[in-house]
Amino acid sequence: MKKYKAIFWDLDGTLWDLNGNTTIALTQLFQRFESSNFRDISIEHFLNCYTKHNEKVWALYREGKIAKEELRNKRFIDLFDEVKAEYDLDFVDLFATEFLAICPRLPHLIEGAREILEQTKGNYTHVILTNGFIEVQGFKMAAAEIEQYFSTVVYSEEAGVRKPHAAIFELALKRANCNAEEALMIGDDWDADILGARNAGIDQVFFTATEKRLAEIHHGKSVRHNYVPTFTIEKLNELKNIL
Ligand SMILES: [Mg+2]
Repeated sequence: MKKYKAIFWDLDGTLWDLNGNTTIALTQLFQRFESSNFRDISIEHFLNCYTKHNEKVWALYREGKIAKEELRNKRFIDLFDEVKAEYDLDFVDLFATEFLAICPRLPHLIEGAREILEQTKGNYTHVILTNGFIEVQGFKMAAAEIEQYFSTVVYSEEAGVRKPHAAIFELALKRANCNAEEALMIGDDWDADILGARNAGIDQVFFTATEKRLAEIHHGKSVRHNYVPTFTIEKLNELKNIL
């Protein structure tokens, strides 16, 4: 087996069930405001449109094209426009505030996440490496009760740049006190996690569940990449063959 000392984990969609928790939070809010703002709109359409617009604004944020404050509301403005909701900017602000109050406090993990952390604790330095916001990621880890597995959390906001930028991986290597050959990045985002780690000289595990789900929403076709990651997994329990 390989020589890894540190495991770098993405949080959203890799350990914390971003899609499942988002669906719960948005469904609650949809039901609360259905009769006033979302009449004659189906929840399925609402959720699919959110996924699409949220993904778009996060891509802009990763590339440094929009600020965090803009991301917070823009995904909902774009969603409400597409589903033809009745809204004004005060409502967007209320909806975004409520969403950020509910969603990060939901505890659901990706299947197999706790098991693999439990099995491998003590064998590696486990590090979270996230583009998510400092003020909410801690709630997610606390709600899911996984904080104890990690020696440190590296936020892109601290590094001043976001994954896939090499600087955030370098900061993580420094914190984990190891070199690139001794680290392994596990993540569900092709650009941020996989290409980011590769460019920093770090081996990668591509967890394909999110990409498969998004491909179904968008066009029903799987995505082709012109690079083969060190490892590819569909389920987290396959990590027991790697770690
Ligand atoms: Mg992710």
